[in-house]
Amino acid sequence: MIYLDNAATTKMFEEAVGEYKKYACDLFYNPSAFYRQGVEVLKCINDARKSLIQKLDAGCGDIIFTSGATESNNLAVFGSKRNGNWNYIFSMGEHPSVFNAAKELERQGNKVFFVSLQENGEIDYSQLESLVDEKTRLVSVMHISNETGAVNDIKRISQIVRKKSKALIHVDGVQAFNKIEFSLKEFDIDFYTISAHKFHGPKGVGALYVKNKNNLKNIIFGGGQEENYRSGTENVAGIMAMKWANEQIDVKRNFEKTLKLKKLMESVLLKDEKVKIVKSASPYILSVSYSGVNGETLARALQDEGVLISTGSACSTKKAGNRILENMGFKKSRIVSSVRISFNAYMEEDDIKKAGEIILSCAKKLALLQV
Ligand code: PMP
Repeated sequence: MIYLDNAATTKMFEEAVGEYKKYACDLFYNPSAFYRQGVEVLKCINDARKSLIQKLDAGCGDIIFTSGATESNNLAVFGSKRNGNWNYIFSMGEHPSVFNAAKELERQGNKVFFVSLQENGEIDYSQLESLVDEKTRLVSVMHISNETGAVNDIKRISQIVRKKSKALIHVDGVQAFNKIEFSLKEFDIDFYTISAHKFHGPKGVGALYVKNKNNLKNIIFGGGQEENYRSGTENVAGIMAMKWANEQIDVKRNFEKTLKLKKLMESVLLKDEKVKIVKSASPYILSVSYSGVNGETLARALQDEGVLISTGSACSTKKAGNRILENMGFKKSRIVSSVRISFNAYMEEDDIKKAGEIILSCAKKLALLQV
């Protein structure tokens, strides 16, 4: 089986599983406990915060551990909401965990604006500039699109926002953290979302980076863990496995390796003139369509051939993929033909070549059937 759906989730590093077990079975103590064992575990998760802050190159700020990116995104959106005549700005490309939170804000009576995407999948920066004003409370734009691999220029976004307002800036960095090099110091943003299972850590654990906690309110009520910003006993084993994965990954090396894999896949697929690809700056995600072949039919047929790809974001309805490609101005026929191929740095070139050839032969067969 050749797994090409790494934007949906990645395989855990074996050693991260070992780390998980250590904190689940040996050092299983509650980090809020007063006794020595608990205090030691608290120290371990505090080291994990430092490890993430360092990789983010944030300089200052805090890490709030969560159950994953969906929760981190909800915390950023609803935790920064304030009563009064504020407006909130999101991009049309957001993952449902931000997009549907935005829709909920709107339903609650808040003024919400959506910035369109350009044909290359990045946001329309000039539209953003025209929407931001002194009443903007939050601007939330993802770093890398999970559908297309488009990379938004976060520094440019923060410059636009800072020039015109005191708005807070949130970035969903799920498809960027531990995949491309960047520095939060340079970005000058307020919140950044990460999720462990997208970089070979466990599912159900993630974090929200927060520059200044005074800008945030808790959305969960309980025992006051995470300095009251996220009640609930911390997922210590998950956090420590995430730390391990974080420290294992050499972002630059992986980027270069994955770029090679993506280029190889593109070169195989583009041998057929019916193939169209979306050019994007992330080496980890490739959005492709084969003219005249339904993407879902193709993905299902490929499953039988041992190649796993996605018709779009696995954790969203089909509509989310449509929303994004539609907003980029793609024709309906191209949208229904689109599939997403996503890589990890530890794959073999031979497998990529083989998978590319299987994708082409499968698509050709389906194209004949559909004529
Ligand atoms: N944001 C983006 C960009 C994603 O790709 C995903 C996962 N598909 C999420 C948020 C949600 O992540 P999690 O599974 O950790 O809730």
